[in-house]
Amino acid sequence: MNSRYWRRARRLTVSERRLLLRHGRSLAAVALFHALLVVALWLWGTLDAGGLYVSLLLGALAVITVVYLLLIETGATLEWRESSLSVPMALGLVIAFLIAAFPMNEARISAMILFFPLLLLVSFRLGARSLLSLALLASVGYALMLALALATRGLRLSLSLELLQWLIFTLVALSFAVTGSGVNGLRRSLAVKNQALADALEQVRDLAIRDDLTGLFNRRHILEVLEHQKALADNQIYPFSVCYVDLDHFKRINDEYGHDMGDRVLRQFAEHTLDNLREGDYLARLGGEEFILVLPQSDLAGAELVAERLRESWAARSFEDRRGPPAVSLSAGVASYRGQETVDQLLGRADRALYRAKTGGRNRVCREDQ
Ligand code: GH3
Ligand code: MG
Ligand code: MG
Repeated sequence: MNSRYWRRARRLTVSERRLLLRHGRSLAAVALFHALLVVALWLWGTLDAGGLYVSLLLGALAVITVVYLLLIETGATLEWRESSLSVPMALGLVIAFLIAAFPMNEARISAMILFFPLLLLVSFRLGARSLLSLALLASVGYALMLALALATRGLRLSLSLELLQWLIFTLVALSFAVTGSGVNGLRRSLAVKNQALADALEQVRDLAIRDDLTGLFNRRHILEVLEHQKALADNQIYPFSVCYVDLDHFKRINDEYGHDMGDRVLRQFAEHTLDNLREGDYLARLGGEEFILVLPQSDLAGAELVAERLRESWAARSFEDRRGPPAVSLSAGVASYRGQETVDQLLGRADRALYRAKTGGRNRVCREDQ
């Protein structure tokens, strides 16, 4: 698969990190809105508290938000069980709502109003039980705060109006918790599907770039690798060489020992060669019994050495113990990238070198004409 298509396809799946950042910033936005609301209610005169009380509330809100954002933005929580820290952050915000609601003279519920969007937000992260617990906890907190206000400050509004606000808060909070549970269920099934899609894409990519029989890269992918190596070489980053390999008289192996043995030899060759390559070298099966090695940072002499070593070690292998041939040799042609030429031109020279190895008697390595 072309890497551009691959990148586009990858965008179909949702990254957990991106979701987490968005979630964290949304919770921080709720904290910011609450801070603005507190200032507005205070200036309006309905929040009947001294400057110190309001400053302490705003300061505490700023501290928990900054600490929370730092944890989320640095990715420190990614490995944690509940990476969004929704429960502690929501509890912190509920306390901040209650502290703001306590000194309200009237419309006390307005200091609690951001609890609803908060509940909806955390429903993307929390299950039904946590959401209901959060709603009940906020309701109980509201009732306690009301009792405290009644005991220490007296109420500006009638008790029945205050209780009515509390009742409305509780009912709306519970209905948000129930709706949120549905949202959460949907999110969970989406997460499962998202993972399945990511796995399937990974599999498709593997199928697209690999050869079925040997698991090596296929022709299409190695051509992409070659274009990339050419770009690196053109930018003077490092040179590279290629080596065409073709197993000798392979048709005979199929004819004498059967196609299955032929397949086995091809797989063994792939394994043997991979074991003998440096990290960073590439091996692909072009088709049939033809392979190509791409050797970054190798000049012609270096590539010839690699090919010669491979030829020798491979020719020394026997398949007699598995009722196969005593040995299978290979012929190879090496060529080095000359700069400002096409990949086809480079491959053409390697192919001609391979042809000379074949016509010269096989079981040998030839280098390109110079
Ligand atoms: P040379 O030394 O000139 O390369 O001779 P050769 O017999 O190796 O080359 P030729 O191109 O005549 O034959 C290649 C054979 O490889 C023919 C085909 O049956 C066999 N072959 C191609 N693909 C496969 C495969 O996937 N499995 C098996 N077992 N054989 C394959
Ligand atoms: Mg052959
Ligand atoms: Mg061939």
